[in-house]
Amino acid sequence: MAKAQTPQRIRGTQDIFGEEEARFAHVVATFERVRRLYGFRRVELPVFEATAVFARSLGETTDVVSKEMYTFEDRGGDSLTLRPEFTAGIARAYLTEGWQQFAPLKIAAHGPVFRYERPQKGRFRQFHQIDAEVLGAAEPLADVELLAFAAQLIRELGIADGVTLKLNTLGDAETRDAWRAALVEHFEAARGELSEDSQKRLDKNPLRILDSKDARDRPVADAAPGIDQFLTGAAADFFGKVTAGLDAAGVAWTRDDRLVRGLDYYRHTAFEFVTDRLGAQGTVLAGGRYDGLVESLGGAPTPGVGWAAGIERLGMLAEAPAFDVCDVALVIEDDAALADGLRVADRLRAAALSVEIVAGGSPRKRFDKGVKLGAGEVVAIGWRDGAATLRVRPGSGEEQAADVLRTSDLALIPA
Ligand code: ATP
Ligand code: MG
Repeated sequence: MAKAQTPQRIRGTQDIFGEEEARFAHVVATFERVRRLYGFRRVELPVFEATAVFARSLGETTDVVSKEMYTFEDRGGDSLTLRPEFTAGIARAYLTEGWQQFAPLKIAAHGPVFRYERPQKGRFRQFHQIDAEVLGAAEPLADVELLAFAAQLIRELGIADGVTLKLNTLGDAETRDAWRAALVEHFEAARGELSEDSQKRLDKNPLRILDSKDARDRPVADAAPGIDQFLTGAAADFFGKVTAGLDAAGVAWTRDDRLVRGLDYYRHTAFEFVTDRLGAQGTVLAGGRYDGLVESLGGAPTPGVGWAAGIERLGMLAEAPAFDVCDVALVIEDDAALADGLRVADRLRAAALSVEIVAGGSPRKRFDKGVKLGAGEVVAIGWRDGAATLRVRPGSGEEQAADVLRTSDLALIPA
């Protein structure tokens, strides 16, 4: 019989291990630590939702909905979609779980998200996001706090040097309509120079052209009018409060008056933390205010502001964390001492020390093997005259194991 072929990993997915895993875990642990400092509550949500959750809140004309979603019919005939982002699912839960009672609600989440894109460095089909949202807060202070949270996260990951916060406002509805009209006029005049995708966007969602990654669109997009001349008094006032708050909180930012976000629901504040260290995948963290999203899901008008960041992209920028060595290498020098060795390991682990047991292979080589692990201490359990013996050798760490064993009830003969 022919040998069965091993099924391959699906294109655009990852098996995260070793140094990559250490970076990944470092990003998540830092996010977990910093989100507590800002009072964001953790939430776990389904990985799939009714397709309408994303189609309605993100908008049918967005890249994500029109090209990138993993949508399928389940066995019951319902149309489901693997989440391409967190915000829409959080807004859905806010409505269906009655979380309005907690407003203003500060929520943090992380986990896998799915988008059908062309895989390349820093771009996957299953990737992972950390996400922060504030629902039910209309004040600019929410935007400021959320950005301060993001900035502190980036600082604590040690990547602030290569990362810049680009900030814009998309104004209120009146502002956006006026800007949109000016953009349409600008792009219509140069229709022939635009990519096919952007010619389509021109009819459906002209703001998106500003966001295009197609090199053919860049000259026309970069020459487009910025938003400032169209800001209403109220929109300018809101933006002024956000920037004043950022300055007071010590969050550095630069203005980009043509920055837009890919999704339909953004209003007022829009921002991206960008780097030039990841090639074409320059955006590491992005978000903004989305007054209007909850309404698109059938809820009462609810202000919201949030951001999401790719864990992989942040991990690629961060310094690799130090390799995790164990506190104690526990060498069983004689097989007769195995049971005593396991008792020792139990005591050490109960005292929160990590232990690696070295018990296999030639007994004469085990001690050297234990030393090579580079642990904080090496504990050797031998066997003499029908009883277990104990020897502790200091390594790179403090004498924690020696202390634990000295005060434990284990009767082992000093070797
Ligand atoms: P891009 O412009 O790179 O496609 P986006 O605007 O689609 O990003 P968002 O929807 O704002 O991205 O998602 C937030 C963050 O998620 C991005 O800033 C990025 O760090 C990360 N991200 C988005 N798509 C991918 C992907 N396919 N693979 C890995 N990370 C991604
Ligand atoms: Mg994208």
